Amino acid sequence: MEKDVDVNKVVRQHVEMDDFFTGGFAVKGNAAPAEPQQQKDNAAVAEAARELEKIGDEVRRCRKCHLGSLRTNAVPGEGNPNALIFFIGEGPGADEDAQGRPFVGRAGQLLDKVIKACGLKRSDVFIGNILKCRPPENRDPRPEEIISCLPYLQRQIEIINPEIIVALGAHAARTLLNTNKSIGQLRGQFHEYYAGLGRAPIKLMATYHTAYLLRNYSEDNRRRVWEDMKKVLAELGLPIPEHGGK
Ligand code: URA
Repeated sequence: MEKDVDVNKVVRQHVEMDDFFTGGFAVKGNAAPAEPQQQKDNAAVAEAARELEKIGDEVRRCRKCHLGSLRTNAVPGEGNPNALIFFIGEGPGADEDAQGRPFVGRAGQLLDKVIKACGLKRSDVFIGNILKCRPPENRDPRPEEIISCLPYLQRQIEIINPEIIVALGAHAARTLLNTNKSIGQLRGQFHEYYAGLGRAPIKLMATYHTAYLLRNYSEDNRRRVWEDMKKVLAELGLPIPEHGGK
């Protein structure tokens, strides 16, 4: 027998997904968005910020691979040194190369909407990339480039020590999890990122890259990203925003 379809539920989900990507999400009711819990005290945050700035300076001087001679600006990453969530993409594109900041082009604008839909601000999270310099024509990162660049990201992760890493797309997820599995296989469940000997593993959620989402802007793909992010929020004990009307 065919299952009854709850039309209201389907419509609600539809509206929710649309709003998710147009920035129309709001936390329902009177509750203000929960402030993400601070993990470090003020002195530790200031120290982490200094360490991150040092890495930024090294990245801006870096010539470990040939991408260093092709860039306009290196893109070390930016955000909250005390972030609970560290979003990690593949590498800078043209806009990021021009500005020296991560995720500022179209894919970045969509990432901003994802962050907002989660009830968070960009300044709550940290955003970085596997590669700190733009590969020509936005081609895929090469293994030797990843090998040269990865220590910067590993140090950033160690300093920030986020509760959750969100790997955006196949390159980030495969690199951080040391696997060849597809993003379709990896997304939607928590994995463990090994942060080094003697350190607790960090939970990692893989999801579609927002650039992929822009190219494949289907309802299913949007729903999948939102489902992944809801799992992240639930894991952190943060409220899951519902569509609250515009
Ligand atoms: N795509 C990425 O992977 N990183 C950026 O910073 C921008 C686009």
